[in-house]
This record gives sequence, structure tokens and C-alpha cells, in this order.
Amino acid sequence: MAHSVASQSGELNTAVIGGGIVGLLTAWQLRLTGHTVTIVDPEPGAQASYAAAGMLAPISEVQYGQQQLWDLMTASRAEYPEFMSVLERAANTSSGYRENGTLLVAADPGDRAAVADLVTVQQAQGMDVSPLTSSALRRREPALRPGLAKTWDVPGDHQVNPRQLIRCVTQALEAELAEADFPGAGQPATWVARRAAGVERNGDGSLRVEYDDAASADFAQALVVPGLGYEHIAGLPQRHPLNLRPVYGDVIRLRVGRDQLGPGEDRLISATVRARVGGRSVYLVPRASDDPLEPGGVVVGASSREDGMPGTHAGSVAELLEDAAAVLPGVREMELMEITTRARPGTPDDRPYLGVPEAGTSLVVSTGFHRHGVLLAPLAARLGAALLNGEQLTARDAQLVQACALRR
Ligand SMILES: Cc1cc2nc3c(=O)[nH]c(=O)nc-3n(C[C@H](O)[C@H](O)[C@H](O)COP(=O)(O)OP(=O)(O)OC[C@H]3O[C@@H](n4cnc5c(N)ncnc54)[C@H](O)[C@@H]3O)c2cc1C
Repeated sequence: MAHSVASQSGELNTAVIGGGIVGLLTAWQLRLTGHTVTIVDPEPGAQASYAAAGMLAPISEVQYGQQQLWDLMTASRAEYPEFMSVLERAANTSSGYRENGTLLVAADPGDRAAVADLVTVQQAQGMDVSPLTSSALRRREPALRPGLAKTWDVPGDHQVNPRQLIRCVTQALEAELAEADFPGAGQPATWVARRAAGVERNGDGSLRVEYDDAASADFAQALVVPGLGYEHIAGLPQRHPLNLRPVYGDVIRLRVGRDQLGPGEDRLISATVRARVGGRSVYLVPRASDDPLEPGGVVVGASSREDGMPGTHAGSVAELLEDAAAVLPGVREMELMEITTRARPGTPDDRPYLGVPEAGTSLVVSTGFHRHGVLLAPLAARLGAALLNGEQLTARDAQLVQACALRR
């Protein structure tokens, strides 16, 4: 297979190695800024991004001592609506983005203090989190179990269906874009269903991507965004080792049965529910009744395991279902659609890696998005493209890039 470094029309031919949610959104951002992208991935969208529930939850996920990560999360959260709207216009389909808010729940009296502590941290940061009375909760979410110990409203934490987002960005990458609507955009993307085995610099400054079947192709620039696959790509990881580890998560997809709904109802719960139940955490993310891929779905997750077992952990699934039913009794009557297990690309401080590993090369690395890759994807896409384009960053963006520096 041969690619010329510059296309006939003079655009830059750029390789994006890894077609998960971060790689695909970055490929889209690169296309918008004039690149003609080739996405190299044997199975785009099939790894961590396939499992993710898609919570966009900088507030609910805040943790004490993670200010830099929180800055990244809130910055990306702010970019979501506009990013999705441009994408939807190009793809002519929904991105699966939904502003449905979140509830924090302490199921039992013993859980109340732990959730209240988190709320104290959130409120000290000026986040919009407020307690709900039990009668207000009953009006808003009547299907939740009566007698939950305490609930708080987090109106700014939303969701996207990652699988629908992948479908949407794929269509946007493949679409013929009118110059009047997307001035300067690159040509439709090319897909290479192969695994990259190595990336090397050619004498003329271009980059050679070697595939695992011994073929290779040259590109003017490359963005390496393979999640946990980073350490298996020869060349870069040996010179720039990053501290990545698999953090396995089991997640369950359910569907609300028609007979669980009353006349005129189209869902059991409206908001995402993040609960603490007997000291354990569980979340329930309701999809819209007209979600194209998971209509009436409820995603229940997720375990967080570092036991080295890539398969599904039976005990985690049992606990998730038990805890979900303790908050939403209707879970017991739902249809079990799917159980998925994937590894999050974990890093020691939960912050991703985004940067230029070798000065003077047209190569950017973007990986380690751990628990928040869906949330962080629009920001990572914009900053990754800016780094590859050699743009002068604003002080704010430089600070955000610094928070993702390639570090050990
Ligand atoms: C159970 C679970 C629930 C989650 N829930 C959420 C959530 O609610 N909200 C949130 O923000 N995040 C969530 N996450 C985290 C999120 O899914 C990840 O951070 C995100 O998907 C990372 O995206 P990525 O594109 O970097 O990696 P991935 O989705 O893992 O994609 C990497 C891609 O690179 C490809 N690849 C690897 N090696 C090579 C190679 N050598 N050559 C070519 N291609 C290669 C793979 O095939 C894959 O398609 C969750 C994760 C899990 C596991």
C-alpha cells in the first residue's frame, strides 16, 4: 500500500493511529483544519469507547486533589454543545448528546456522610449542586425507590451515547462537505483496517507507519491515539515510555420493557443517577426513548478492576445489578441486552497524555484518557489538532496542554 505524503490537491495527508472516540474526534478536527486524514485501526470504536456509558460528569466525578484534571473536564464539558452541533451538521445525524442532568443519591443512611463529603468539595469549588427534598425527588423521578436516604441535584452533568457519537463522527469524516459550509476542510477520510506496528521518521521529515503485515505507508504528519495500544507500537514507546495500565470495567446494558411504563410515559427515569449503596458506587444512565441505537436503554456501571482479567467479572455484574435495583426497583423487570467489559487506559494521576514527543517531528501523542475519555474528547481533539498544526496556543490552552504533558 502506498500513500503519497501530500495529496493531489495539496492537502496534508495525516495518519490518525487509533480510531476510538478520541482518535475519531481528533481526526474530524484535523479534517476541519484542512487535513486529509487516514484512520489506521483494525476495529475502530471497539475498545474502551465501546463500553463507555458516556457520562459527561465533571461535577459528579470531581475528586479531592485533582484540580488539573477538573480544569480539563470542565473545559471539555463547555466545548461539547458547539462541537456536537458542528458534527451533527456535517453528518446529518444525531451525535447522541443529551442534556438530561444528574442526581447524586445516598441510598442508605450509612452512605449519606460519604456523598455529603463529596458535595462539600463540589460546593466549595462553586459547582451547582443542591439538595432535593424527598417530595421534589418523588415528583421528578417517581420510579426511584421510596426512602432513599438523601439526594442532590446536579443539573450541569449530562451524557452522550458514545456508540452513536462514533457513528456520527464516522459519517462526518466520510461526508462530502460543501466548501461554503466547511471552508478549507480536507477530503473525506480514508480507513486502513490494520494495526500499526511502528512509526519511524524518514530522512525528509515525513513519517513512515509500518503495519503488522509488513506493509507501510508514508504520511506528512501523524497523531498517535491508540489508547492502551501505545506500548505495542515500536519506535515511540521505547523512546518515550508512558505509564499506562489497564483498568477493567464491566458495564451492563438494559432496556425498559413497554409494560413497565404507564400511559403516556416513555421512560422510567429521566436523569442520570449516580448512587452510593451500602458503600459501593453504581450509576444508571438512561438513554432517550428515541435514541437511535439504544432506545429506552439504561446503562448500569461500572466496576473498576486492576485484577488483570480482561473477561467479565461475575461478582461485579451481580453487585452492579443488585445496587442498581436497590435504587431503581424496576431494574429487575428490564430486559438484559448486553454485558461489556473493556479496559480503560489508566494513568497514575488520572490525567491523560497529550503532547509532541520529539521536537521537530510532525507527530502528536494523545492517550491515557482513563475514566473520562468521552468527556475529554472534544478538548483533546481541539488541542491535539492545534499541536499538530503548530498553532500558537492561548495562555489558557497552554495551561491545559501542560496538564497533559508527556510525563513518567
Ligand atoms: C466500562 C467503562 C465505562 C466508561 N464510562 C465513561 C463515561 O461514562 N464517561 C467518560 O468520559 N469516559 C468513560 N470511560 C472511559 C472512556 O471510555 C475512555 O477514556 C475513552 O474511550 C478512551 O478513548 P480512546 O479513543 O483514547 O481509546 P479507545 O476507545 O480504547 O480506542 C483506542 C483505539 O486504538 C486502536 N488501536 C490500538 N492499538 C492500535 C494500533 N497499534 N494500530 C492501530 N490502532 C490501534 C484500538 O483498536 C482502538 O479502537 C469508560 C470506560 C470504560 C471501560
